Amino acid sequence: ENGAGSDAVAGLDPEQRAAVLAPRGPVCVLAGAGTGKTRTITRRIAHLVGSGHVSSGQVLAVTFTARAAGEMRTRLRALGVDGPGRPPVQARTFHAAALRQLRYFWPRVVGGAPWEVLEGKLRFVGQAAQRAGAPTTRESLRDLAGEIEWAKASLVAPDDYAAAAGRAARDVPGPVEQVAKVYETYETLKNRAEQLDFDDLLLHTSAALEEHPEVAHEFHERYRCFVVDEFQDVTPAQHRLLRAWLGGRDDLTVVGDANQTIYSFAGASPSYLLDFPRVFPEATVVRLVRDYRSTPQVVSAANTVIGAARGRAAGSRLRLEGQRPPGPEPDFAEHDDEPAEATAVAAAIGELVEQGVPPAEIAVLYRVNAQSEAYEKALGDAGIAYQVRGGERFFQRTEVRTAIAALRTAATRAPDDATGDNMVSLVRAVLGEQGLTEAPPAGSAGEGAARQRWESLRALAELAEELVTTVPEADLGAFLTELNARAQAQHPPTVQGVTLASLHAAKGLEWDAVFLVGLTDGTMPIQHADGDDDAVEEERRLFYVGVTRARVHLRLSWALSRNAGGRRSRRRSRFLYGLVPEEHPAARVPTGRGENGGSRGKPTCRLCGKPLPDPASAKLGRCSTHPSDVDEELLEALRTWRSAEAKSRSVPAYVVFTDATLI
Ligand code: ATP
Ligand code: MG
Repeated sequence: ENGAGSDAVAGLDPEQRAAVLAPRGPVCVLAGAGTGKTRTITRRIAHLVGSGHVSSGQVLAVTFTARAAGEMRTRLRALGVDGPGRPPVQARTFHAAALRQLRYFWPRVVGGAPWEVLEGKLRFVGQAAQRAGAPTTRESLRDLAGEIEWAKASLVAPDDYAAAAGRAARDVPGPVEQVAKVYETYETLKNRAEQLDFDDLLLHTSAALEEHPEVAHEFHERYRCFVVDEFQDVTPAQHRLLRAWLGGRDDLTVVGDANQTIYSFAGASPSYLLDFPRVFPEATVVRLVRDYRSTPQVVSAANTVIGAARGRAAGSRLRLEGQRPPGPEPDFAEHDDEPAEATAVAAAIGELVEQGVPPAEIAVLYRVNAQSEAYEKALGDAGIAYQVRGGERFFQRTEVRTAIAALRTAATRAPDDATGDNMVSLVRAVLGEQGLTEAPPAGSAGEGAARQRWESLRALAELAEELVTTVPEADLGAFLTELNARAQAQHPPTVQGVTLASLHAAKGLEWDAVFLVGLTDGTMPIQHADGDDDAVEEERRLFYVGVTRARVHLRLSWALSRNAGGRRSRRRSRFLYGLVPEEHPAARVPTGRGENGGSRGKPTCRLCGKPLPDPASAKLGRCSTHPSDVDEELLEALRTWRSAEAKSRSVPAYVVFTDATLI
C-alpha cells in the first residue's frame, strides 16, 4: 500500500467517489464543464494502482492535448502513483501513444526502420492536386488537406470518399470525384516517399494490433486498464484504435461532455460517448452537475449559452450548479475597432495583475489564431509577459535560440558527472549568464521585454528539472535532445505569463480570468458556419467551452470594425443574445435601421439581429435559431434553403488540427 489508495477519494463528492471506486470494468462519466471529470479519472487511476488492482505501468490514459497529458502525469506524481522504482502511468494523446507503439512494433510488422512522420502534408497534397487538375492555391490546398484528414479520421478510403462525403453532407472543396482523386494520389505519393502522416499513426497501429496476433498479445499483456478524457471528441479512427487496444476487454473509463463537442468538423462524434451506456450495459454510469471551477455568475452565463443549444448533445443537457463563492458579474464591452479592443484588454489585464491576479492565471481566448497578433502587440506595449498556446513561437524567440546555442557549447565541455541534479545546476548556470538572475524584472512597461526574456529562460530551466524527474541520469546531451524533440513537435514549455490561445486549444484548461475577444458575427460564429445549422451549433459549443474556462472573471468583448477608424460594419455575436444584461448599452438589439452597416434597410431577426435574407424568415422576423413559435414546415423550408445556400459557397476553412496539439 503506497498511500495512494486512501488519498484517492479525499475531497471528492459522492458521485465522483462512485466513479473512482467503481469495480474494474466499464465506467462512464457524463458531465458538464468544471464538474471534475479530469480530476475524477486521475483519482480513479490513483485508486486502481493504490489498491493493487493494476500496476502503474499497466495503465494507459489518453488525453486530448500534449499539455493535458503532461498535467495528468504531474497530478499522478503528486498523488504518489508513480515515482522512483515504479514505472510511470502512460498518459499521452492518442497520436503520441500510437507513435510510440508503432515505432516499437514496426520491425516485426513491416520490417526495417520506421518511416518518418511527415511535417505538414501540403507538399504531397500540392503534387496530388496538380495531377488531379485541382486548384493549388494555399487556401485550397489547406481545404483539401482538411478534407483528407476528415476522410482518414472517419475511416473512409479514397474509393469510398465520394459516397461518404455525400452521406455526411460535406461541403466538398471541389468536384467530389476530383477530391477523391487528390486523396488517392496523396496516399500513393506519401507512401512511396515512406512517410507517415498523423492519421497514419492511428491507422497503422490499429492494423498492427488487428492483423498480428502476437503483437496484440504482447500489447494486451502490457496494458490492462484504459482511461480516456474528452471522449466526446473521439473520431472513428481513434475509436478503432481504442477497440484494438482493448481487444475485447472492457477495463475502460471514459469521461466527456457532449456539449463540448468541438471537433465534429474533423470527424469526431459525441455518439461514442452518448452510446457508451448502451454498448456496455453493465457500465457504471455517473453524472456530475456540481461545478467546482467557476463562480455562480460564470456558471449562470454558461447555462444560458448552452441552454440555447440544439441537437443530440443538447438532449443530454444538465444545468450546472455552481459551488464556489460569488464573484463579479461577467463584463461586456463594445469597441470601435480591434486595436482599441486589444488595448482595452491589455489595460484590464494590467489592472487585474495590480489587484493580485497572477499573469499565469489570465487568458485571452479567440476563435482563430490570426487574432492573436493584435493582443501580442497590445500586451507587449503594456509590458505584460505572455505565451501563445499552440504557437510554435517559443523556440523561435531570440533569447531561447541564444540560450540553446550556449547550452550546446557548454555540452562540449561538460564534466562526466554533469548528470541529473548536476545537469540542472549546469543548465541554471548557463542560463544565469543569459539573464536568468534570481529576481525577475518588475512587470512595468519598458521592462516588458526583460520580463519576457526572464520567463523564457525560467521555462527552459524548468524543462531541465522536469526531464530529471523522469530520467534521473539525464545529461546535457539528453536535455538538448529533449529540447530538439519539443521544437520539432512544436510543443513549447509553459511560460509564466498571460496565455493567448484559440478556443480549441483552451479545452480542458482553466484560469482565474478569461477574456473572450472578437465576439462578432462572422468570427464567433465563424462566417463559414453561417447558414449551416450544425456548424453554428458547433460554434455555440465552442463559445460554451470558452465561457466555462473562467473561474472568477469573465470578460467578453467585440469590435465593430477591424481597423482603427474603419467602417463600423460588424455586429456583436448572436451568441451574446440573452447574456448581455438588459440595461447594458450593448444589449440594444440591432434593428436594421441602418446603423449596422451591412444590414442597411434589410430585415433582421427580432431576437438576435441576424440578417434574414430569405423571404420566409423575413416575413416572420425570426432566424432559425429563434423560431420558438414557428411551425415546423416553415422551419424545414428555411433549413433546406439555408443548406442549399451554404453548398453554393466555398468550403469552410475551419481550423485544421495543428500538429502541435496532438503530440
Ligand atoms: P472540463 O469539462 O472543462 O474538462 P472537468 O469536468 O474535467 O472540466 P476538472 O478540470 O476536473 O473539470 O475540475 C474543474 C476544477 O474543479 C478543478 O480546479 C478541480 O480541481 C476542481 N474540483 C473538481 N472536483 C472538485 C471537488 N470535489 N472539490 C473541489 N474542487 C474540485
Ligand atoms: Mg477536463
